[in-house]
Amino acid sequence: MRHQGVYRWTLFALLIVIVISPLLYWSTGIGQSAAGLSAEISHQPDGTPVSSPKAMALHRLSLPMRVERLLIYPLLLICFQLSGGSLALRRWLEERAQPGLSSRPTRLMGTWGWVGRLAPRTWRQRMPGRDLRVILLLALALQVALSLLEFPLDFYNGFVLAHQFGLSTQTLVGWASDWSKNSLIALVMNGLGWAGLYSLMRLVPHRWPIPAGALMMLLSVVLVLITPVLITPLFYKVQPLVDPALRARILTLAERAGMDGDEVYVINASAKTTRVNAYFTGLGDARRIVLYDTLLRGYTPDQVEVVLAHEMGHWYYRHVAVGLLGAGAASWIGLFGLRWLLGRTWRLLGLSGPADPAGLPYLMAAVAIVAALALPVQNSLSRYGESQADRFSLALSQKPAASVELLERLAVHNLSVVDAPAWERFIFYTHPPIVERIRMAERHTETN
Ligand SMILES: [Zn+2]
Repeated sequence: MRHQGVYRWTLFALLIVIVISPLLYWSTGIGQSAAGLSAEISHQPDGTPVSSPKAMALHRLSLPMRVERLLIYPLLLICFQLSGGSLALRRWLEERAQPGLSSRPTRLMGTWGWVGRLAPRTWRQRMPGRDLRVILLLALALQVALSLLEFPLDFYNGFVLAHQFGLSTQTLVGWASDWSKNSLIALVMNGLGWAGLYSLMRLVPHRWPIPAGALMMLLSVVLVLITPVLITPLFYKVQPLVDPALRARILTLAERAGMDGDEVYVINASAKTTRVNAYFTGLGDARRIVLYDTLLRGYTPDQVEVVLAHEMGHWYYRHVAVGLLGAGAASWIGLFGLRWLLGRTWRLLGLSGPADPAGLPYLMAAVAIVAALALPVQNSLSRYGESQADRFSLALSQKPAASVELLERLAVHNLSVVDAPAWERFIFYTHPPIVERIRMAERHTETN
């Protein structure tokens, strides 16, 4: 490969950017002066809400951070690939993964074990234990490196900035513990996921996108099912909603919507944040609505009811199932795209074949770039679903005035800007901007 030196220097420069960019954001002084800014939104003469100065200040920092995240990690991975770093890493791991040399943990991870005795002989020939060890270690090493490289911005954004803007109620230890848990989950899921993909490339050389896509869909269904019961409790205390008055409202709402579900849970989000939120998750019998306790503390029963009705909209339109199907179909197409890409480029990259794990950074970058390009599409669909849920909420609760109050209070508590330029909405907004949601609620008042 040519120009390796250039890529090595670019890689070095990117690493410096990653370390110093939080300092640059910090040096703007925006975060330091945040405490003195008002979080209240104002109104134009015609009643249109205007973002609070505090929300605008936060937005001035968080937008560049979002763009930075979107660009810097794919660039970093590509430079690592083209600088020859991943080939060197693969060779280094290969030397250490010799059967005679391997330590006990790598032997445990790498041998086929009892699975091997069940697996067809051709599989063991296509992928000896040593190769499996290299694939696994390489995927885990890259994931650890990525998590560590995300640390500076995560820390600045999630701890420093969140405290400066009064959004976080966490201690440093609490934040660090959450960050470690998140990174560990990412390590297990992404590390094993990538290692699994490369294993499939070896075991099913030409048709690997078919089983890989099927497995990804299966795993995402499992993930949706286990997250509320296994993952969320790692971060929050999860309790069923017991308030009898609110439960009665929920049952009335559910009955009016023709649904039999009343699974509503509360998480102690106030132990970490002042933000207010609620979400709907799960499939089939495991469907549930989850409310932040911050919502129950500071909001009127009518406003909470509007939130519940919105979440029931996601329930009614089966947004989780539709999302899973859409993501599954998209990833299947994406996997065939990856096969095409690898088939065309592995020689140029100096790889020993399309399934050479040394091509992993390149593959990760390709996935990140496609995901970034697909973000506007994904978010457009999300915004459409959120509008559906808003309309459903207005029709079900018949509380347009409470909806408007709710949206304005949410903007105050979450320091959200109420509107954004079209390009920004198109790329980043999972929900319609608050001005639009308020306008929809007001139109409901007029038409009904
Ligand atoms: Zn929603």
